[in-house]
This record gives sequence, C-alpha cells and structure tokens, in this order.
Amino acid sequence: MKVHIGQHSGFCFGVKRAIQVAKEAARLHKNIYIKGELVHNQEVCRQIEALGIKTVSTLKSVPGGSVLIIKAHGEPLATYINAKRKKIKVIDATCPMVKDIHKKAKEMEQKGFRVAIIGDKNHEETIGILGNIKNGSIVENIADLRKLKSGLGEKIGVVCQSTQNIEDVSVIVAKLAKITHALLFFNTVCRPTYLRQKEIERLAKNCSAVLVVGSKNSANTKRLFFIAKKINPNTFWVNNAKSIAKNSFKKFGSVGVIGGASTPPETLEEVYKKLS
Ligand code: SF4
Repeated sequence: MKVHIGQHSGFCFGVKRAIQVAKEAARLHKNIYIKGELVHNQEVCRQIEALGIKTVSTLKSVPGGSVLIIKAHGEPLATYINAKRKKIKVIDATCPMVKDIHKKAKEMEQKGFRVAIIGDKNHEETIGILGNIKNGSIVENIADLRKLKSGLGEKIGVVCQSTQNIEDVSVIVAKLAKITHALLFFNTVCRPTYLRQKEIERLAKNCSAVLVVGSKNSANTKRLFFIAKKINPNTFWVNNAKSIAKNSFKKFGSVGVIGGASTPPETLEEVYKKLS
C-alpha cells in the first residue's frame, strides 16, 4: 500500500505562531490563563497546559493582575475591554489573518454596510468577528438568508470565516447579490485553508482511500473530511495513530493522508508509520 502525505498538511502559519507566542509567554510570565483552546487540537492543548498555562472557559475565572493569552481564533472586543478593567495583561495570539477579517468587517460597517459573516454560528472565530463590530449577522447557510433577508438592508458587506470552503461561500454570496443593491465581498478564506482543500481534492481523486487527521472540534479538519468524502466514499477521520484500527486500511492500494491546520507534525509522522 502506498501512503501519500499531503504537501499542504498539518500546522499552518497561524497555529505555529500562536504556539510560539504561548511558549514565549510561559518563559516570561507567571499566572497565565487562556480562555478556551489555543488551537483546536488536544495534543497541542496538553503541551500548553504542561507549560503551566491554565485553561478557563470565561474571563470571570481569570484573576485580576494575571496574564491572558488570546487564542488563535481571536476574541470579541468585550474580552479586551473586560481584561483591561481587571488589570489583566493581554498577550494576543490571534492569527493575523483573523485580525485582518476583523479589520475588513469594521471598515465596511463604518462605511454604512450591514456586515454578513459567512461561517459556523458556534465557532469562536465567527463569534470573535461578530464581537468586533456593532451590528452584524452570521450566515451559516441559505436558510439563514431567508430569515435575515429584511434585516440585511440595502448595502451588504461580506466576509467569511477563514476555514470555510469557498465553493459553499460563493453560493451564499450569489444569493446575497440578488437581495441587495450594493454588495461588497472579501474572500477571507485564508491561503493555508485553500491550499489544504485543493490538496485533499487531489488526494481524494487519486488515492483509493483518504485519511484526515485532526481533532473532532477542528473546523478546518471537518471541512477537509467533507470535501474528500464527497469525492471519495473511502474517506476516514481520526484524531491520531492510536485511533487507526489494525489492518483497517489493508484492502486499499493507496491512502492519501492530510492533517488539519492544528495537527502537529509528530501526529502525522505516527500515522504515516502506522499505515506503512
Ligand atoms: S487556518 Fe488560516 S486563519 Fe486559521 S490560524 Fe491557520 S492561517 Fe490563521
């Protein structure tokens, strides 16, 4: 059996940067907290906690005067304001590409556009984008558009969650174009996401099976799985090498392997060894 590891696979630039920021913070400070997961990968989160960084779910659990790391997906503006109020030092590990989406959304709002964010309603990145503007709407699918139609107004500005599939985004943007007079759209799907999605399409077409590696709560990993599954029914999704049952891939002549943007290189290496 041939095992092909995707060239665009595993840690993206934003995840590498967030881990570096957290490591540097641990070297320089004490009493460090992070609200939520730095990135969506259990192994990475274990490593971060081993550095002494405590994970909390709300800012209420962060004591005044301590240090707060902002995760790669970003935070709503209220988190920064409340942290300042509690004299918490903020170290920002938000991916610069996510920061850029915040900036674009804010600029469009200032120019009088009603902002629509195409993304997953419950994902921290989308919630963070929404929380950095005064009045936006999250659009997850076409059905949401029908609900929002009257609320969106004459001028609509659109950004999308960085890990969306641009094909799905385009369908929603085309519908939006029909219900407004002025539409401004920024394709904010980040380059690493786009390259991974193209890579998995190639693997799904050319290999007898596809294995997507990454945590189940990782949005970009989920998207990779569904893109591949549409093309190749022999597509599987595992957390790590331990989740691969013995002999489960034996019947396939070739397997294409791809890791989500928060999947560590060691995890991919272990998967490769196990399949080989
Ligand atoms: S997937 Fe894209 S936006 Fe998200 S952390 Fe990586 S580079 Fe940044």
